[in-house]
Amino acid sequence: MTDSASRLTEPVSPLTDTFGRRHTYLRIALTERCNLRCTYCMPAGGVDLLPRHHQLTFEEIIRLSGLFARLGVTKIRLTGGEPLVRKDVPALAAALSRLPGVETLAMTTNGLLLDRHLDTLHAAGLRLLNISLDTLQADRFQAITRRPGLEKVIRNVDLTLGAGFDAVKLNCVVMRGVNDDELADFARFGAERDIEVRFIEYMPFGGNGWDHDAFVPYKDMLSTLQSAFPAMHPLNDGPHETAKTWCIPGFRGRLGFITSMSEPFCGGCNRIRLMTDGNLKVCLFGRGETSLRDAMRAGATDDELSILIDLAVTGKKAAHAGMTALATQDDRPMIRIGG
Ligand code: SAM
Ligand code: SF4
Repeated sequence: MTDSASRLTEPVSPLTDTFGRRHTYLRIALTERCNLRCTYCMPAGGVDLLPRHHQLTFEEIIRLSGLFARLGVTKIRLTGGEPLVRKDVPALAAALSRLPGVETLAMTTNGLLLDRHLDTLHAAGLRLLNISLDTLQADRFQAITRRPGLEKVIRNVDLTLGAGFDAVKLNCVVMRGVNDDELADFARFGAERDIEVRFIEYMPFGGNGWDHDAFVPYKDMLSTLQSAFPAMHPLNDGPHETAKTWCIPGFRGRLGFITSMSEPFCGGCNRIRLMTDGNLKVCLFGRGETSLRDAMRAGATDDELSILIDLAVTGKKAAHAGMTALATQDDRPMIRIGG
């Protein structure tokens, strides 16, 4: 029996890597399509879309998710591209949340289409929503996303807050000279709202033109905010929590910082990614990918798929290559990975 096969017969989680990290969180990119064109995600010339038959089907997503859940995944996040442009999302959400072992179903969305889907998503069992919003100024929204829509997104954020979800978060990618003067405005956005505003360090991906001058590290964001809100203080974060969370006395909302670049959280990483084309990626910044779609379509059994998954997970590196190396690495554009 091979090492991988023998690992699968062991009672420990097969999704545990050689550094003892258990992977319980699966992020599924449902599509590479999007109704926005964010500069930091989508290359200026767009991307060649996958032919439809290269994309995982509804049944393939459910089969793989069921397998991942049997292997130990307890949380699934739907992302993309923009997940809500895929027509079968409500049905997918319902089927995923019924899978034995799946305790938490979440989605990251740009929010534009949320009003059409809130009730069905909630009824389907989706409980956590992250909505991306990088500016509170309409002209900037247009410049960053290359489309109009700020008012619609803000309206949908407020609708979502009243729709019974367990948690609603805002994802804001902070870029110097673009929106870094809005940190305090975003904090005030959460003054009356039960929301976590997450400031995300700008990361380099294929074709997004990342440059060091536009990068704002966590410590700079923090000092800007501390000047505006001297009483803000940190909260206790769990071991797999990617955000460092803070609160401002008197404010309903909280602030989170995703420090993937300046203070990576690789040591506590519990996530793996299934991309639209059925490739499994065990690290957001890793080059390695395993095609589960090709294996499935060639007739692989669940045991054979488990072995492929195990090989990918055991090949996961201790940490990503660091900020300088990442900036020069030729990776997929973010729109084709799924954030
Ligand atoms: N379309 C959905 C949305 O925008 O929320 C889901 C997909 S998007 C790729 C997922 C998340 O990745 C978004 O919150 C987005 O802000 C983040 N993201 C994309 N490119 C990024 C980059 N270069 N640096 C940091 N975060 C990025
Ligand atoms: Fe679309 Fe989300 Fe990428 Fe913006 S960040 S282009 S909304 S997938």
